[in-house]
Formats: sequence, C-alpha cells, structure tokens
Amino acid sequence: MKYYTVAALGLAAIAFSAPALSQGQPDFSRIEVKTTDLGHSTYMLEGAGGNVTIAVGTNGVIMVDAQFAPMHDKLKAAIANVTNQPVKYLINTHYHGDHTGGNAAFGKEGVIIVAQENVKKRLQNPPPGANGRTPPPAPQEAVPVQVYKDKTTVSIGGRTAQVGYIANAHTDGDSYVYFPDANVLATGDLNGAQRNYTNPDIRGGGTIDGIIAGFDTVIRVANNQTKVVPGHGPLATKADLIATRKVLATVRDRVAKMKAAGMTEDQVVAAKPTADVQEQRHADDMVSERFVRLVYQTVK
Ligand SMILES: [Zn+2]
Repeated sequence: MKYYTVAALGLAAIAFSAPALSQGQPDFSRIEVKTTDLGHSTYMLEGAGGNVTIAVGTNGVIMVDAQFAPMHDKLKAAIANVTNQPVKYLINTHYHGDHTGGNAAFGKEGVIIVAQENVKKRLQNPPPGANGRTPPPAPQEAVPVQVYKDKTTVSIGGRTAQVGYIANAHTDGDSYVYFPDANVLATGDLNGAQRNYTNPDIRGGGTIDGIIAGFDTVIRVANNQTKVVPGHGPLATKADLIATRKVLATVRDRVAKMKAAGMTEDQVVAAKPTADVQEQRHADDMVSERFVRLVYQTVK
C-alpha cells in the first residue's frame, strides 16, 4: 500500500491511499466505495479520503465523516444499497478536507452537520496550508450547525452516537464517535493510519501530547470486542490502538529527552529516534522524519 500526500489540502502530513491518482489528486471516477458490515446495522465505507461510518436507525442514518466532495454521489449510492432511510446527521471527526469535503453537498440536502466547536472555526477561518497559503472559507452549507464543547450525543431512530472531544491532538477539534449498541468506535485521524504514525497538524492546533492523551481516552472507551474504524486504512481493534499508542509514546519520550538535552531539531532527526519502529509502522525515512519534526515542534 502506497501513501500519497494531497497537495490540495495544504497539509503537510495528510496521507491516504487510493488506487489511482493524477497530479497528486485521486481519480475519483475510478474509485469504488467498499462497504464493510460491522453488524447491528452499522457499516464502514471506504472510498477516497477518510473512512466513513454509518449507523442506520428506523427513520434515518447517522454518518461519520464525508470524504472528498466528489465522493458524495458514490457514498449516497453505497448508503442506498443498505437502507432506504435518508442521512439525517453528519458528524465530522475534524476539519480536514478529506473528511469534510462532502459537507457542502450533504448540508445542502438538509443533513445536520455536527462537530466540536473548533471544527466550525477552522472551516470558517482555515489555517494556512503547508505552502503558506490560506484556503478560502468553507461555504455556509458546509459549516456545522450543531456544535459541542466537551461531549454530546446524537440520536435517530433508536441509534445513538456518543461523541467526545479530544483536545489538541491531530487537530484542536478532534472527536471520537462511539456507537455502544454496535460496539463500533470511529477515531478519525487521531488514529489516522493505525499502521503508520499519527501526525499532529500544528497549524490546526495539533500536538503529540494531545495525541497520546487522546489514545488513552479511546483505549478507555474501547473493549476487546470493539470494532475500531480508523481515520484511514483497514478496520482495527483495541489491541491495535494500544500498540500504536506505545510506539507514539516511545518516540515522543525519546524526542523529548533529546530536546531537553539541548539537541536541535536536525540533530534529533539525524539521531533517528524511529529507527527500530519504522518498519513496523510501514514508514519510510521521509515519513519518519516528518513525524519526528512534528513531535519535536509540539512536545512539552
Ligand atoms: Zn486529518
């Protein structure tokens, strides 16, 4: 599996996999949505962008994340394959375009967009991208209409999503979404590519310490039977969360120690604090270096 950076997102550290790309953008016409039945009328949808989770109730659907804008029709078709019920709520796990690109189209159809309050702020006033340019604000219909601070619940037709805030982790507006009846936990990009590293989006308020604290939170929410839908990549388990947390904390502690000893960022990179975990994380030198730099810059 190859990882590509999406230049259009203006984010240094967002990678995703796609079967076909041209000039850094996926060829959306060639992407098929893969639906995985998680039981209890709950499904994971994979296409282009972040994973989507849907929970089907008796009179509506709760959807978690919406991929890139061009995926809207394909996601709707995939949902129509499993239910006649309309999407009533769309919960954003964070503001990144590979998770919120579909907001505008769903919002236009009257879907109620729910997110932590910082997602609204970030969509209305996007931080500058890695290229230094500030993207335009999201259109009004893409902006969450129902925002929360610490936790909230979203219910429709016998289904309930427990939504919790994870402060300053991947971004400053991260949510996890847990469906207790199905024992399904969507982590968003806190656990973005659970076989890789989790990068903090510094311009978006992310920090490595917040990421590790966030892992502690979702590990508490999960049990050994929980089906964990990561931000990207295949379905995961609580054991995967624990393994990823261990790697992230190990690298964090090494970098913190070197930084406290007065080493510069370049010196820490040269010391290769990820040398023994890189292969296990399916990462190359470039991916590891990027993570180490982000850890160095955000570690307390
Ligand atoms: Zn993200």
